[in-house]
Amino acid sequence: MDTEPYDFQRCKLCGAAAAAPRYRLKATTIQVCAACDFHFITQLDVMPGDQPETEIRTLDVVAWNFIEKQLKKNRPQLERRLDLVAHHTPLHETECLDIGAGVGLFGHLLEGTGAIPFGIEPQLVFRQFAEEKYRLQLRAETIDHPYWQERHAGRFAVVTLWDTLEHLNFPVETLRDAIRVMRPGGLLFLDTPSRDSLYYRISEWSYRLSNGANPLFLNSLYSPKPFRHKQIFTVRQLTELIERLGLELVELNRSGALDSSNKIVLVAKKPEKASA
Ligand SMILES: [Zn+2]
Repeated sequence: MDTEPYDFQRCKLCGAAAAAPRYRLKATTIQVCAACDFHFITQLDVMPGDQPETEIRTLDVVAWNFIEKQLKKNRPQLERRLDLVAHHTPLHETECLDIGAGVGLFGHLLEGTGAIPFGIEPQLVFRQFAEEKYRLQLRAETIDHPYWQERHAGRFAVVTLWDTLEHLNFPVETLRDAIRVMRPGGLLFLDTPSRDSLYYRISEWSYRLSNGANPLFLNSLYSPKPFRHKQIFTVRQLTELIERLGLELVELNRSGALDSSNKIVLVAKKPEKASA
């Protein structure tokens, strides 16, 4: 693990020492890279595994009820995502890894199709919920851990990251590690908020016109709190990254347009003959 504090002048997407503060929000600052125009904030999560004392909170009735309420909201979208996966690959007895599995709902839905779900979730409360509600054992080790990189390299036919990319400390590295555990010909599915959305653009204009007094939605799109949004990609940045990492783009935004949730939805394939 890196113990050096991260230098936020260094772009988390292209690596150039070209990022500078552009939007100063109430609780955080958005850095913008002059080389590639990536937007990211100046906070990183401390992973619970690095600091076990932060993990004392466990699943109580309040947390349980809160999660149940969120689940009701999230379920229709995850069901649509399951349809998307099923549209691209047979699922029966297929090993699928869900990175950022949350409370395990997607793994549970996969199980209903006969697939074999695996999941990674760093937050203990969510893992406890998945275990109690769905009898799903999610792993705490993140994808860079030897547990995955050594024991499961080249294994999975399907890897999914639903609403996860924007939460990660280092999305490029995580995607690279995720691709390593995919088998040749395997499929990567992900969704993430889009910076091309109108409400993001309007928020930027508003910030500029008001000299920073009114950043509109920028305050809710990013958060310095643990496990919240740290970066938001444009469609082009994300598709270029996927190709740079050696995947072939299979599908982008199934409906042909950004859906009502303003998300990028993407399917990509690891070549049968992997170069790396
Ligand atoms: Zn950059």
